Amino acid sequence: MSLIVQKFGGTSVATPEKITEAARKAIRAQQQGHQVVLVVSAMGKNTDTLVDLANAVSTSPAAREMDMLLSTGEQVSVALVAMAIHELGGKATSLTGGQIGIKTDSSHTKARIQNISTERMQALLDDGHIVIAAGFQGTDEQGNITTLGRGGSDTTAVALAAVLGADECQIYTDVDGVFTTDPRQVAEARKMERVSHNEMLELASLGAGVMHSRSIEFGKKFNVPIHVRNSGSFTDEPGTVIGPESESADRPVSGCALTKNEARITLAGVPDQPGTMHQVFAAIGASHVAVDMVVQDVGADGRADISFTVLESDLPATLKAVGKVADALNGVEVQCEENLSKVSVVGLGMATQTGVADRMFRCLADDGVNIKAITTSQIKISVLVDRADGQKALRAVHREFELDKPPASRSDYSDESSQIEQPSPADIVARLQRMEDLTIENISLDQSQGRVTVTDIPDAPGIAAQIFEAVAAENLLVDMIVQGAGADGVADISFTVPRDSVAKAAKVVEEAVANLGCGPVENDPAVAILSVFGIGIRTHVGVGVRMFAALAEAGINVDLINTSEMRVNVVVDSAKGDAGLAALKTAFADVLG
Ligand code: ASP
Ligand code: MG
Repeated sequence: MSLIVQKFGGTSVATPEKITEAARKAIRAQQQGHQVVLVVSAMGKNTDTLVDLANAVSTSPAAREMDMLLSTGEQVSVALVAMAIHELGGKATSLTGGQIGIKTDSSHTKARIQNISTERMQALLDDGHIVIAAGFQGTDEQGNITTLGRGGSDTTAVALAAVLGADECQIYTDVDGVFTTDPRQVAEARKMERVSHNEMLELASLGAGVMHSRSIEFGKKFNVPIHVRNSGSFTDEPGTVIGPESESADRPVSGCALTKNEARITLAGVPDQPGTMHQVFAAIGASHVAVDMVVQDVGADGRADISFTVLESDLPATLKAVGKVADALNGVEVQCEENLSKVSVVGLGMATQTGVADRMFRCLADDGVNIKAITTSQIKISVLVDRADGQKALRAVHREFELDKPPASRSDYSDESSQIEQPSPADIVARLQRMEDLTIENISLDQSQGRVTVTDIPDAPGIAAQIFEAVAAENLLVDMIVQGAGADGVADISFTVPRDSVAKAAKVVEEAVANLGCGPVENDPAVAILSVFGIGIRTHVGVGVRMFAALAEAGINVDLINTSEMRVNVVVDSAKGDAGLAALKTAFADVLG
């Protein structure tokens, strides 16, 4: 028999009417033949009210008592939902976290789940009950009540779905689903029928945040499709399923996003030798700032430029950290730029299609948008632009890739890395304990690519478009694209293509840029690309630190870098590929999932 977990957030159980509506939805699902577990949050802003109360009687409420207090919010909702179901003639039993048997560690207010018993829930379900589970809570070994951290009901829902082997985890919220982009920015944004876990992870952390990334990570790791839908819809309108599949195989781009408040820091003239990257990253890592769009250009005269973006609010802390490194590395200049935004397009389809980058760059050029940096992953292209151009750029790419129109074909195309076998319950619990930790899914070496670099590109719109149009006209599949800061307003653009296309690509690009005032076009017929792919990479600056430490220790120089939410790619000398792979596998042995 199929089993569905339905989660209702605070706004979806804020009033008696909404509670009754949630009860109806659960009964309807049961009548459709599913076993149903409901996970509920505290009503409305009840948790906030409880926090305020605590602060009104104490300047530093004890964490244990805080959990005792906050857990009551969910206890209220589960009881009321159960009563509402009874009222409608259904069978339902509410359970607190402790009654379910959600065991956690004793870190009050941010406890981690250590074990979940399924017996009691399963017995009730088999007896025809709808189980109403209190979100966000558990008990520790001594029976103390614990909570999982704010927003923790999503975690409870996906965790229960995982251990019960649910067919779907439905998240009822106040939006209709996941959109192709933020509808407040682009009126034509369309609700997607489906989006893959990996696409969603790239989009979620890009600011299209309908759901906490942590629950999507859960869904991906435990192979639970997550159905985001609107609790206000009385018609049971489907929302968006975040699962292994993307919406369409034919489409290169599924969604796009804008991150508004970016700042860029450039370290110009960094010695191009093993170990420098590690020094830079160790300093940033120590300041606990999440960095994005890390780019290292191909060096010239033994010096390279390294640039990366941070949220504008993190700029002072970051500058302080890199200032020290710059002092230690002779002759390095620190530059910074504010008022920038990042525009990204994401799609599983682009991994296997030519002519995505050129379309993106062309539509931006036609709208007069200057591109200040480029990074790519297999399923994402991000560009940095002036903040004043951000919204225009987002609208341009949304239009270019016709995201307002539903795809013509539905796909059976799925994301290989999501097709994991269903783990055993013991496995799931073991992995739950490490949930907030980093998991590296894959470390790979690609020995198929070569590099082309167009040097000294003037800082004006349209050049990237012309370069990649020339490459696309030859049907060459571009893998990695990197454009960094460029110290004096002139940047380099590097990209990789299969080795047998390097000469061709270099030739067509040379012709394309002949009259644009660029520097010489260089190429390296064979490079090695090392990639670390996994969950939580961007937020764990430690990945960069470890990666560059390992490469430095192995005496390997990094020629090019780019990053995304899920991936760090570095280009090294092809002769050093195997040694680099071995060094990285050793360095990440403990977190390799
Ligand atoms: N009620 C808790 C909170 O507001 C848990 C949740 O809603 O997910 O953080
Ligand atoms: Mg909530």
